[in-house]
Amino acid sequence: MININKIARPNILNLQPYSSARSEFRGKEGIFLDANENPFGNLNRYPDPFQRELKEKIAGVKRCNSRNVIIGNGSDEIIDLLFRIFCNPGKDKAMIFTPTYGMYRVTAGINNVGVVDIPLDKNFQIDTEKVKPFLDWPEMKLIFICSPNNPTGNIINEKSVTFLLENFKGIVVVDEAYVDFSKETSWLSRLDNYNNLVVIQTFSKAWGLAAARLGMGFASEEIVALFNKVKSPYNISSINQQATLEALQDPDKKDRAVALLMKEKERLVNALSGSARVTKIYPSRANFLLIEVDNADHLYKALVNEGIITRNRSREIKNCLRVTVGTPTENDMLINAINNIK
Ligand SMILES: *Cc1c(COP(=O)(O)O)cnc(C)c1O
Repeated sequence: MININKIARPNILNLQPYSSARSEFRGKEGIFLDANENPFGNLNRYPDPFQRELKEKIAGVKRCNSRNVIIGNGSDEIIDLLFRIFCNPGKDKAMIFTPTYGMYRVTAGINNVGVVDIPLDKNFQIDTEKVKPFLDWPEMKLIFICSPNNPTGNIINEKSVTFLLENFKGIVVVDEAYVDFSKETSWLSRLDNYNNLVVIQTFSKAWGLAAARLGMGFASEEIVALFNKVKSPYNISSINQQATLEALQDPDKKDRAVALLMKEKERLVNALSGSARVTKIYPSRANFLLIEVDNADHLYKALVNEGIITRNRSREIKNCLRVTVGTPTENDMLINAINNIK
């Protein structure tokens, strides 16, 4: 067991959090004269600051305890809160494995936290030998692992994640934004074994709710308590909580979308591997493909001219584009465009 309070910033530990009207009185019924709201209307009341109903539903679907759930305004808010809770600006450090999701570095920068960047190996796996020298740094507070990794699409080996969990005395974050597309078990199942593990998931991808900005974190109760202290009181709007509750009523709908997209991904792989300009398609456990082409900058621009927007990742991985799996019609248009562009 790790003493989480020893990793957190002292000012956060000593912080007396804001106590909102709705956290002081928790009942549902009553005459509410406590929060200076307009008494008329439908959206006139502040939302539950602790999103209890939503957390119960999420815990039910994910088979975990609602006391271990964190909700963020997108997982990006959870990433930001991790830096604000654990990293002293100008002093502490975080580790990332590149190429990976860009927000870890940007959020570190916003919080004035230095980044130790360990490149993934040729199979896009973590080289634990390269990590070892940094694990004992007292300033090293956070390690971000993205699995399935964006933009490479692969799962990070269980062995390396376990190695980090067992040898690092700070917080290990596993970002599982694409977990619904992979058949891998989530690290969520290991939450009880490691009180320094934070698993991040989102409603933005498989659940089709990117507009609702709903991210989930799963962590030990000590870590959840720190999040509740630091997050803004009403960070998730009632509208967004409601939209998510509705989606949770019908998880089969998400599963059907995932099944269709995975079939479409296979179809894209088959069609694109026959194309003369595609030199490699990386295996993907997510809803996107990383494809290596003859000239990524040229193809990217030519696709934009056809109205098809992909992500040009060629600065990180030579001549590679990341393409999201779309609807069958959209995928047909992509295949045609790639085959016909001069
Ligand atoms: C898309 C994505 C997210 C999602 O962020 P939200 O703020 O929840 O929309 C998080 N992590 C990774 C790796 C992603 O690709």
